Amino acid sequence: MYFSIIIPVYNRPDEINELLESLLQSSYKGEYEIVIVEDGSTIACEEVVAKYSNSLNISYYYKSNSGPGDSRNYGMKKAKGDYFIIFDSDCIIPDHYLSEVEKEVLDWAIGKKMEIDELKKVEKFRREFLTNLSHELKTPLFSAQGYIQTLLDGAIDDLDVNKKFLEKSNKSIERLCVLVDDLDEISKLESGEIKLYFSTFDMNALSKEVFESLEIKAAQKQIHFSIKKGCEKPFMVNADRVKIVQVVTNLMENSIKYGKQNGATVVGFYEMGDNLLVEVTDDGIGIDENHLPRLFERFYRVDKSRSRDEGGTGLGLSIVKHILEAHEQTIHVRSTYNVGSTFGFTLKRK
Ligand code: ADP
Repeated sequence: MYFSIIIPVYNRPDEINELLESLLQSSYKGEYEIVIVEDGSTIACEEVVAKYSNSLNISYYYKSNSGPGDSRNYGMKKAKGDYFIIFDSDCIIPDHYLSEVEKEVLDWAIGKKMEIDELKKVEKFRREFLTNLSHELKTPLFSAQGYIQTLLDGAIDDLDVNKKFLEKSNKSIERLCVLVDDLDEISKLESGEIKLYFSTFDMNALSKEVFESLEIKAAQKQIHFSIKKGCEKPFMVNADRVKIVQVVTNLMENSIKYGKQNGATVVGFYEMGDNLLVEVTDDGIGIDENHLPRLFERFYRVDKSRSRDEGGTGLGLSIVKHILEAHEQTIHVRSTYNVGSTFGFTLKRK
């Protein structure tokens, strides 16, 4: 929807000035143009137009030997919008171009436009999500079905493959379970169904616990976990401990999945006023800059096949973001392709 606001000029520049100022201050961010038409007997608004022409989309026309009604028609002819809003001083309230009624109509139209834009965005997001979801579910489901079907068709008696096929279908079903668990977690976090249980704990101790729980996975790639030098003391925070274990686990797991053989992952803590900044830094494959803005979206992956090979669902970072948002905290990422990544999040200090 594109509006044309038509202002035939029969009156004082200060009123036009007032109108343009209020348009400039308006919170409306959509597209509209302003068409100002003088009847030709004066060029009273030149200065006002010059003042606003950098910040508002104004077209300014002079006409000669024409009456006020003509200016209005002329403006409508020049206007490019789908809708016209006409500030006609002589037909509404004399001496006030910006009548209350017109203002209300403009506000209403603007409000509706924003609402429609928002609904369109949500609809697009929902459609994308459903497409992604069905794709993610289909892959392991069809794979398991394929192996089971082959077993039923006779492979069950083939001692060379029967166990392998069963194991493969089991793996696909395990993948489905992880996916459904992650989706369940996200939907609960989104609906606010999950309550946070706040307590005071040490982030240093928590990180070491996560190191231990991921020891075997890290050893497979010989990735070394450590606390940053100078950060050995306790760093007390107030948060939901179980949920923060999940945040650190997801970030550390990613540092293994997208890490290089013999790599290193370091966790650092920085006190920043009331907050503690926690940073997880790896020297892995890194992420190209153009992927960074979408990284925390559901199912967004830089390299789909690598993520799947590593058992990723594409939901880990989205869960992390949701947990931190529920804590009213934030997460950010810095990364250089082929050099490594740093994920940093904040928590309330105690
Ligand atoms: P996944 O289950 O695919 O790992 P995530 O939501 O945890 O899903 O991460 C989304 C994507 O971000 C991953 O597929 C990967 O491409 C990228 N990514 C996440 N963490 C890292 C990291 N530490 N190094 C490089 N890439 C990463």
